Amino acid sequence: MRLSKMHLKTLREAPKEAVLEGHQLLIRANLIKQYAAGVYMFMPMGWRVTRKVEQIVREEMDRIGCQEIHMPHINPGELWKESGRWYAYGPELWRIQDRNERDFVLNPTCEEMFTDLARQEVSSYRELPFSFYHIQFKYRDEARPRYGLMRSREFIMKDSYSYDRDVEGMNKSYMEEWEAYERIFTRCGLDYRVIEADNGPIGGSASHEFCALSDVGESEVAYCPDCGMAATIERAECVDEAPAVEEMEPVTEVFTPGTKTIEDVCNYLDLPVEKSIKALMFVTYDNDLNPADYVAVFVRGDRQVNMIKLVNALNIPEHYIEFADEEEMGPVTGCVGGFTGPIGLKNCIKVVDSELVDTVNMCAGANKEDHHCTGVCYGRDYVGDIVVDVKRLEEGMPCPKCGTPVKHTRGIEVGQIFKLGTKYSESMKTYFKDENGNDCLYYMGCYGVGVTRTVQAIIEQSHDEKGIIWPMSVAPYHVIVTVINPADETQAAIASQIEAELEKHRVEVIVDDRDERPGVKFNDADLIGIPVRITVGKKAKDGIVEYKLRRESEMAEKTVEEAIQAAKDLFDAEVFGM
Ligand SMILES: [Zn+2]
Repeated sequence: MRLSKMHLKTLREAPKEAVLEGHQLLIRANLIKQYAAGVYMFMPMGWRVTRKVEQIVREEMDRIGCQEIHMPHINPGELWKESGRWYAYGPELWRIQDRNERDFVLNPTCEEMFTDLARQEVSSYRELPFSFYHIQFKYRDEARPRYGLMRSREFIMKDSYSYDRDVEGMNKSYMEEWEAYERIFTRCGLDYRVIEADNGPIGGSASHEFCALSDVGESEVAYCPDCGMAATIERAECVDEAPAVEEMEPVTEVFTPGTKTIEDVCNYLDLPVEKSIKALMFVTYDNDLNPADYVAVFVRGDRQVNMIKLVNALNIPEHYIEFADEEEMGPVTGCVGGFTGPIGLKNCIKVVDSELVDTVNMCAGANKEDHHCTGVCYGRDYVGDIVVDVKRLEEGMPCPKCGTPVKHTRGIEVGQIFKLGTKYSESMKTYFKDENGNDCLYYMGCYGVGVTRTVQAIIEQSHDEKGIIWPMSVAPYHVIVTVINPADETQAAIASQIEAELEKHRVEVIVDDRDERPGVKFNDADLIGIPVRITVGKKAKDGIVEYKLRRESEMAEKTVEEAIQAAKDLFDAEVFGM
């Protein structure tokens, strides 16, 4: 392929709305162009990379016997009402109507359709297990689409679904997908970690995230440097500190003027912050988004509430809860903004962090302006309606598996796998017949790879100040032949020879034969990140060219034959060999 005939419009500067380096490089290297907020067109080089990531995913799905199909992008709202997710999914679900005002959904994920497929197509245990996948554009009406392909409204995802007759079968399918995902992300050249994750709006009993480690990732990960425990912050369990053993003191109301924060009151009363109780007030909503309940959450003063653990404890979707207006709820519940405590609070659900159980002589709000109570004891003075771990696992807190202080890091979620169990087969009444003719529920798993997000994750992990450094496996082309003077007949002939011999070996080559200064050609080659550059210049008349890998700084002079062989060997090792 001749660069002079290709469309490639690289940019010196990235637009200012692109804050992440990966997003900037996607645009500067002319891989994508924004069409609307969070909606992108893929330009020739960007589409080639995307197709290669897709192909790796496809090969690894095929290898575990998962079959490719293609589902429609729009699916009937009735299916989503049947599963309950029409209500539970929230405003990210892209709802549309046809001319007859019938509801449809632009797929964000396809559990309903795939469950319905089993309901229509499969009836006997003899047909189990089986699994399907498809690679398709997906849609999420993000409130704030940003960071390029990391949080876009239209994106490509591979999703697969496994169907088994029991838990053991589901676990086996889950492990096969897990291993396929390890191969996919290794082949894409990513440095990733597998972490325990929350099931979120997909639901089910267990889930793992495949996280490409990156400072710019949106997933917060807690991990243990000793035992290897790794989990999203939402999911990570906390170890409760044992309560102090002390004589119970009586509850005493104390005057604490103007002390609205935990720090204020602890300073004022000269108390360690772990002897205080923090209160947070929320309001929840029902399916019609009318206010349902007030919720008071209590954690130790030095802890933070983890919203995911809270909505899981309340068994409601994430978007059905928000901070309450304490003035509005004061007359109903008795709370007083900044001075709310568990004693005497009424007409609300009290969620108490498990660490507060059996604590004594704590300081809490008195539900009275400018007053707190001391001597507050769990069990004697208050109890929780729900008692559960609702706190965040902070850096330095003990690992739930081995006790070593945990560390935090960030990652880009490029894949996630879920054990769904019977969640969807139950809500959508989907059965197969067993040996005795009994109706049995399917045990399902679902598995996603963010294809377009993976493209950006690779760039976030693999670039330098000059541009992208593609791994051979997904590079838009493997080799760029830079011709210093395309008008020189010898240089042109050698470039053609290299191109022809490499293409015979299925190595993908672009020849930069543009009438541009060498500096411009080198800059573009570095920016678009082609793994191998072979420069054909003055020494071409002696059969000598320059050979350089994008990921290394040195270049070497080689004969034309040596350069061709080196490129073939690299291709065999890093593309063909995997
Ligand atoms: Zn550990």
